[in-house]
Parts: sequence; structure tokens; C-alpha cells
Amino acid sequence: MERVIVVGAGQAGGRACEELRRAGYAGVITLVGAERHRPYDRPPLSKGVLAGKVDDTTFPIDLDGVELLLGRRATGLRPGVVETDEGPLDYDGLVIATGADPVTLPGDGRQRVLRTIDDALELRKELVPGARVAVVGAGWIGAEVATAAAAAGAQVVVVEAGSAPLAVALDHAVGRVTAPWYAEHGIELRLNTAVAAVRPDGLELADGDHLAADVVLVGVGVRPRLDWLADSGLELDRGVVTDEFLSVSWTGTAAGPGASAGPVVAVGDCAAWWSGRFGTRLRLEHWDNAQQAPVAAVATLLGEPTRYDPVPYVWSDQLGRMLQYAGHRPAGAEPVWRGDPGEPKWAVGWFDDAGRLSAIFAARRPLDVMAGRRLIGAGPPVDQERFADPGVPVKSL
Ligand SMILES: Cc1cc2nc3c(=O)[nH]c(=O)nc-3n(C[C@H](O)[C@H](O)[C@H](O)COP(=O)(O)OP(=O)(O)OC[C@H]3O[C@@H](n4cnc5c(N)ncnc54)[C@H](O)[C@@H]3O)c2cc1C
Repeated sequence: MERVIVVGAGQAGGRACEELRRAGYAGVITLVGAERHRPYDRPPLSKGVLAGKVDDTTFPIDLDGVELLLGRRATGLRPGVVETDEGPLDYDGLVIATGADPVTLPGDGRQRVLRTIDDALELRKELVPGARVAVVGAGWIGAEVATAAAAAGAQVVVVEAGSAPLAVALDHAVGRVTAPWYAEHGIELRLNTAVAAVRPDGLELADGDHLAADVVLVGVGVRPRLDWLADSGLELDRGVVTDEFLSVSWTGTAAGPGASAGPVVAVGDCAAWWSGRFGTRLRLEHWDNAQQAPVAAVATLLGEPTRYDPVPYVWSDQLGRMLQYAGHRPAGAEPVWRGDPGEPKWAVGWFDDAGRLSAIFAARRPLDVMAGRRLIGAGPPVDQERFADPGVPVKSL
């Protein structure tokens, strides 16, 4: 293999370049990125950058010898060829790492999203004392932006269509526990409130009410960036579908007889890979996934198929708390509390039908999550009564 193209110069794309060199690949690497920035870290955007503590989150990775095509967008894919807005590029091996794009709402008003460093620096200018800030969505990003906006002295209202914050990421019973935290930070939280449209002077609510706002930040989720792959013949299903080795699959005749597709892998927010551990396809929007998946993907690309089946992990700093979540919650599983969620520190777990810990979430109990993640990985049945006792260290289970 002499020429590898990495499409998407974000976290996973940058890591893939790093891993290719670490694995001894000596051929050409071309990194194609729609943004004009070198790969940078996104979690600080909604934390340190909005808080004014940091302006630059560029990863300290060595891209010497990597051909950087920044400000260049991939527009299509054929076996062996990436089409871009400045012409085609041939490849022998391809890494797809185009991440995800924030979902926006209807309406003629200005809506801010938070995905890029440019988004963060622009938004930060508007988080000033007295500014009326409406945040749509009480998920991970919405809660973090609301925290930063309130700390900057803005008047913040968070509007959430569901009946609890974080109800999609966690479950309703757990998300509900976080609702009172908003008022502690002077933030108004309006649950069960759907937005019909963003207007120049605020939000038009589905019930006909109007919420006046100077700044509207929409944090209602992201969609994997697949537009450029629409006609490629790659299997797409809410992500680039891959096997457990992160190899894509071609459908139809796209990579048929005579076509030289070369190995193609997908990583990061855009990849929907098969998890044998959880018996389902997973697509994660987590830093840890973008960091780790390129290790397996690059090995696979270079001819040593390597299974990628981690225990997912995500964290969030919001409303004065460090929250962490590991694992994958089985549908319908009831939460098993570990400590009183009215107290500052607590955790909660979910178990599968075989009595194994499948997921754990904690507020200010990092050791529980670290040990819980290992326990989920190891997979023994766990005594739920002992789990529920916060005096029993998770690592002893
Ligand atoms: C504000 C914010 C806060 C976050 N906080 C946390 C957190 O606290 N904890 C956590 O675990 N995770 C967090 N995340 C998630 C984490 O940052 C992402 O999961 C991670 O960045 C995904 O990396 P990626 O490389 O897959 O995608 P990205 O980093 O989005 O990179 C994809 C890149 O591909 C480029 N691209 C897209 N389409 C094309 C194309 N057609 N041609 C060329 N280039 C293209 C994009 O411009 C982008 O630069 C946060 C994310 C955001 C936005």
C-alpha cells in the first residue's frame, strides 16, 4: 500500500495519521479536511473555550510528512478514488473520519450550534452579562453551554422537549435527578416544551408561546456526515456501517469485478460498527471512541484485521458536576441506584438479563465508573445488592 487517504481532519482523522506512522506505514498519507484547522480537541469547546480559559485546542500530534489538504471537502467516493471539491484523489487505502454535524431547527432566526472552534469563539463573544440566552435541548452539549453562559452572567433558559434532561443519553429516571441542578446555577429549565421554529427575536414554541432571546443555541443532537458518500455504494445506516474490524461494506456493484476498492475503514462519530460484546451496532459520539478506534482501524487497513469492541465511555462537566458514563444500557433495564441521588455523590447501574453490569453512570464518583468499566469489560455476574451499597468499592465486585 502506497497511498492512504484520511478524509476528515478531526480527532479520529488526526489519530489515524498518527497511528499509521506508529504502525510503520511508510507510504504517502493525505489528510483531507473541510475545516481550515489542523485536528483539534472538541470537548474543551463547551468548557474551557466558552469559559475564556483557552483559545486553541489543537492536538499536539506530529503531522510532519502528512500531506495536509485543509479547507478541502470530499464530495464523493468511487472504488479507489475520493472526489473532492478540487479534483479526484486516488487511494490504495482509505480512512473515513468525517464526524457528525449538529442538527438545526426550522425558522428564519439566527441559530448557533457548537461543533467547531469557530462556533465556540463566536458564541463566547455573545455570552455576556444580561444577554438572554435560549438553549434548545438539555442534553450533554446544552447543559454544558448553559453552565458556561450562566457563569458569564447571561440569563439562561434551557428548553427541552422531553420530560427530563439527558433522557435520551441516560434514561428518564436518571435524567430527572439532574433537573434541579439547573436552578442551583440560576438557569431556568423548561421541560415538555417543544420548539416550532427559531425566529429573529427568539423561539416560537410549539404551543404558540414565544420565548424572547438574544442568542439561540441549538443542541438537539448530531447526525453523522454521510452526504458525500450517498452515491458511493457503501452501506450506510445512520452511520458508515462497518464490521467488528471497522471495515466498511460495499453494496451492489460499486466494488464489483474489476473495481479496485482497496481496504476502507471508518472511525469516530461517523462509524456504526458491530459490537459483539453488546450484540448490536453502535455509533458513538464520544472522545474516547475517536481516540481508540483508529488503533484497530489502522491495523485492519494495513492487513491485520483487529477487532474493536470497547466498553464505551463519555464524560461531561456540567452544572458544577463531573458526570461519567460507561457501557451500553440494555433496552428496558431498570436503574439500580448506588447511593442517594439527592446527595452530591452517587452512581447508578444497569444490568443485563444474565445479571452482568452493562452500564454505569456517576456524579462525582469517578472510581466507580473506572472500576465499573473494567467490570463491564470482564463480564462476570454481579451481586446487585452489593453494587447498591455505596460503601462497597465497585472494584471489589
Ligand atoms: C462542543 C463539544 C463538546 C464535547 N464534549 C465531549 C465530552 O465532554 N466528552 C466526550 O466524550 N465527548 C465530547 N464531545 C464529542 C467528541 O469531541 C467527538 O466524539 C469527537 O470529536 C469525534 O471525533 P471525529 O474525528 O469522529 O469527528 P470530528 O472531530 O467532528 O471531525 C470530523 C472532521 O471531518 C470534517 N469533514 C466532514 N465532512 C467532510 C468532508 N466531506 N470532507 C472533508 N472533511 C470533512 C469535519 O469538518 C471535521 O473537521 C464533544 C463534542 C463537541 C462538539
